[in-house]
Amino acid sequence: MAATLMDGKALAAKRREAVGRDVAELGRLGLATVLVGDDPASHVYINLKHKAAVEAGIDARDFRLPATASEEEVLALVAGLNADDAVDGILVQLPLPTGLDEAKVIRAVAPAKDVDGFHPLNAGQLLIGEPTHVPATPLGVLALLDEYGVELKGANAVVIGRSEIVGKPAALLLLSRHATVTICHSRTVDLAAHTLAADVLVAAVGVPGLVKPEMVKEGATVIDVGITRTEQGLVGDVDPRAAERAGLLTPVPGGVGPMTIALLLENTVRAARYHRGLLAFPSAAG
Ligand code: NAP
Repeated sequence: MAATLMDGKALAAKRREAVGRDVAELGRLGLATVLVGDDPASHVYINLKHKAAVEAGIDARDFRLPATASEEEVLALVAGLNADDAVDGILVQLPLPTGLDEAKVIRAVAPAKDVDGFHPLNAGQLLIGEPTHVPATPLGVLALLDEYGVELKGANAVVIGRSEIVGKPAALLLLSRHATVTICHSRTVDLAAHTLAADVLVAAVGVPGLVKPEMVKEGATVIDVGITRTEQGLVGDVDPRAAERAGLLTPVPGGVGPMTIALLLENTVRAARYHRGLLAFPSAAG
């Protein structure tokens, strides 16, 4: 039986339309993106985010610094954006060039404007079950699971990858929905033993074809977050032949990728609501 492909492109288009309506209702919304250096993949991502923001009616401002920029320059730019009333949300594209302290820059972004959800305060809010800004990719994973009616309560969910950006927040979101969650990583012994028990399998690794068909439980839902650029184009972490065993599967491209952009825009709307006092942000509430 071939898996049903989960159409992230269609769902993302629907959610972006809804963002457009929210933006119209809220009035002017400002998103500042910061790109330091000339990493080609980062350029592509920033351009995609910008285009999507503009299409939704968001006033997206594009700040670029050379790879030679000092940490002080980056921190000064972020401080200016924190204080700028026209800016509701701030996104600093990662990775930063070597020599810049990424953790320090992430901490410098005002938590209520941190649409990436990387600031430790936002990460902590997710950990204690009171989410504020949550990283867009794991939110996109959850939105896809919900759209396709995947039962999470009591399900065995296995997340491969433990990054702060995808793996850990994805695991926490699944836990918050009462899945029984296992997190696997590069030191996991017998990965297949874990994945074969998964009703819901999320692969966020960056190793093409790591998840082989024989590692997938019959009828499982498989979410492929991985994106690797190859000569054949973009490929995921899941061998496409896993479609012969999975019940639901996200394609690469066209699965999680478009959802990340849509949820980033939703986070920008959320940031605007915090900024305008329409939603209470915990640090501001004391
Ligand atoms: P990352 O920070 O490099 O983390 C990769 C994780 O995979 C680590 O936890 C690592 O384990 C684990 N890992 C590496 N090799 C493994 C193996 N052989 N078996 C099991 N686990 C292994 O990457 P990331 O930022 O989370 O991104 C993961 C993938 O998602 C990448 O391909 C990235 O391009 C993609 N991505 C896609 C989107 C999207 O919108 N679709 C967004 C963000 C990221 P250790 O912790 O032990 O090193």
